[in-house]
Amino acid sequence: MPKTAPSRPHRPHAATPCSILVAGPHITSTRRGSEGYLKHPYISIYTGRCCKSRCTFCLWPQTVGGHRYRTRSVGHVIEEIAGAQKAFPQVKEFFFDDDTFTDDLPRAEAIARELGKLGITWSCNAKANVPRESLKVLRDGGLRLLLVGYESGNQQILHNIKKGMRVEVAEQFTKDCHELGITIHGTFIAGLPGETRETLRETARWAAKINPHTIQVSLAAPYPGTFLYIQAVTNGWLDAEHAELVDEHGIQIAPLHYPHLSHAEIFESVETFYKSFYFRPGKIGSIVSEMVRSPEMMKRRLREGVEFFEFLRERKKIAA
Ligand code: SF4
Repeated sequence: MPKTAPSRPHRPHAATPCSILVAGPHITSTRRGSEGYLKHPYISIYTGRCCKSRCTFCLWPQTVGGHRYRTRSVGHVIEEIAGAQKAFPQVKEFFFDDDTFTDDLPRAEAIARELGKLGITWSCNAKANVPRESLKVLRDGGLRLLLVGYESGNQQILHNIKKGMRVEVAEQFTKDCHELGITIHGTFIAGLPGETRETLRETARWAAKINPHTIQVSLAAPYPGTFLYIQAVTNGWLDAEHAELVDEHGIQIAPLHYPHLSHAEIFESVETFYKSFYFRPGKIGSIVSEMVRSPEMMKRRLREGVEFFEFLRERKKIAA
C-alpha cells in the first residue's frame, strides 16, 4: 500500500527504500520490495517524456516537461531492453515510467510487437481510454499490468480537473482489460475541486464497481506551478495552517478544504475508501486465492497488510 503522496497520481513511487542495483542512461533502477503491484525485481525505464493531457493538479507536465510527448525511437528502446534482459536475467518485469506510455498508441503498439519477440513481461502508465484492439496488441506483446489514473468516478470532477475523460469510456476500458487478462493498479484522488461528501462516496462505490486489481488513494495536493495551486490560492481553498503537503513521516496531509467540506473530512475519506474497496468478500477472496497460489505473493501481501495497518495508525495520529 502506498504511504506517501505521489508527485502525480498515476505513477508508482517508492514507499520504502529499495535496493538500487543499477542506474544506466535511461534505466531508473532495478528494485526489490516496494510497489506491490509489480513483479520483483523489476527495472523501471523511461522511453519518453511529458504528457499530452492537461490535468490541473499534475506537476510534471506543468512545471518540467510540457505537453508534447517526446519519445525515443522504437529501435533504441528495444535495444536497451534487450541489453538489460541479458545483463539482468533475474528481472521479472520491465516498467515503462513515461507519464503516459499510451499517449502515442502506434508507437506503443510497435514497441509491444518487438517486446513480444523478446518474451519479456512489462507494464506501464496508461490513460483509461486505450481502445480494446490496441490493448490486445499490447497484451500479446507481453503487457501484464497498467497503472491507470482514474482520479474520480464523478464526471463533473473529471471536467473540473480537465482530465479529458468520460466515466463510461473508463468503464469500458476497465472491462476490456479484465476480459483480456490485463491487471490494473488504479489511482484515485480525494478532495479535488467539486468534491462533496456524496462524490467521495460515489468514487469509492465506483472503484468497487470497476474493480481494479489494486488501488492507491491520494489526497488532492496543490503543488506550486500547477493550475490547481492558483485555483486553490485564488479561491481560498488553501490556508497557511494547512499548506504542508506531507507531515514529517511522509504521510499526506489534506491541504485543501472547501466551504462545504473540511480538511478532516477529506483526510478521513481516504481510510474509508481503502476499507470499502479492500474489505469486500470478493476482493478478500481474490487476494487470498492469489496468496494461496504463490508463496511469494503470500509473503508480500502479508507484509503489505502490516504496512497498511501501520499506515492507518499513522494517519490516525495526524487526525487526532
Ligand atoms: S494524464 Fe496523468 S500524467 Fe498526464 S497530465 Fe493527467 S495525471 Fe498527469
